Amino acid sequence: MLSRDDYKKAKAGLNKLDEKKDRFEILSVKDIPQNLRINTTQSNEFSEVKCILFGHRCGSLSAIKLARYYAAQFVKLGEEIQILAEIKEINLTEKDRFYPPWTDINIESITDHNGVDYFAEDYIFATGAWTHSLLAPYGIASQIYPQKRQMFTLRVKPDQNALDIKKRIPILVLPSSGVYIKPVLQNSLIMVGCANELGNPYQIDTYPPAAEEDYFKHVIEPVLNHYFPQLEDYSLFSKWAGYYAYYWPDKNPVIEKVSNIQWMSGTSGSGIMKADAIGRIAAAKSLDLKEVELYDETKFLVADLSLKKRKVDIEELII
Ligand SMILES: Cc1cc2nc3c(=O)[nH]c(=O)nc-3n(C[C@H](O)[C@H](O)[C@H](O)COP(=O)(O)OP(=O)(O)OC[C@H]3O[C@@H](n4cnc5c(N)ncnc54)[C@H](O)[C@@H]3O)c2cc1C
Repeated sequence: MLSRDDYKKAKAGLNKLDEKKDRFEILSVKDIPQNLRINTTQSNEFSEVKCILFGHRCGSLSAIKLARYYAAQFVKLGEEIQILAEIKEINLTEKDRFYPPWTDINIESITDHNGVDYFAEDYIFATGAWTHSLLAPYGIASQIYPQKRQMFTLRVKPDQNALDIKKRIPILVLPSSGVYIKPVLQNSLIMVGCANELGNPYQIDTYPPAAEEDYFKHVIEPVLNHYFPQLEDYSLFSKWAGYYAYYWPDKNPVIEKVSNIQWMSGTSGSGIMKADAIGRIAAAKSLDLKEVELYDETKFLVADLSLKKRKVDIEELII
């Protein structure tokens, strides 16, 4: 859902899309289904709903099932997956000589928490939000920073006079702070989340990080109350938090390599959506290919997501 201001800001991004090919529509306020019972007016704090960007191809999938599928495919290739092996040490060559800059420094091996060493020609770090803390001690400026994100599940009384969740409800992204709602209809649950920026540190404290009920009360609940004034009978059912891995300047992924050390991260909160493309580009990078074909047959220059020869637009249409 877009306010007047959101719409103005999104226009440049929208103009790059094709309504037919990308299968989206801009709906007006009167097209909003009645069962959502959304308040579209503005208040002192929250903006009005001016229009809706409705994506016919949008939907949801199980991230766990997707990960299991790729893991199974990987094993089918005859490869091995070590689960719960935490890499504690990256062993660079020339350590004893203080890494003289005229020599070729590279990774000789990595060591896990049990002291097991792993040897390879090339090492690829797909370590998400942990990329900076893992690589920075070895002189690698990955440019990836972690930031906590929280999600809450509410149990909603199905027969109350608001957000009639017995009917079909799409995933909704509200104007004002991007609070999003994902209905889980069969269980009378809705999932809600929101991304705050300034004041929220770029660092990992604990894992998993704590999801805070006070954050829900202060940041998410007021937004819900404004847009769904009839939504009263609900209770907090569960909460969860994780870290986004940000490449702050343009919020697109980073796929870079120094010596025999490659990293791919900076998914900035949409790494499941981008995973297929990131995987193809990262594979091409490790094979020293200049160009790669993506799933939709788009040709992509591998260096465009590097740090040194980066050439991508700032992400404008953030869902
Ligand atoms: C609350 C929340 C909601 C989200 N919603 C969406 C969404 O709706 N759509 C979407 O597309 N994306 C979403 N994301 C983002 C998405 O989850 C990430 O972009 C994606 O998981 C990144 O994938 P990755 O493989 O790069 O990193 P990760 O999935 O973080 O995987 C990195 C792995 O590296 C491992 N690792 C780290 N350090 C070490 C070490 N030293 N040794 C061994 N292993 C290590 C970690 O344990 C982890 O398993 C959401 C994220 C959060 C937190």
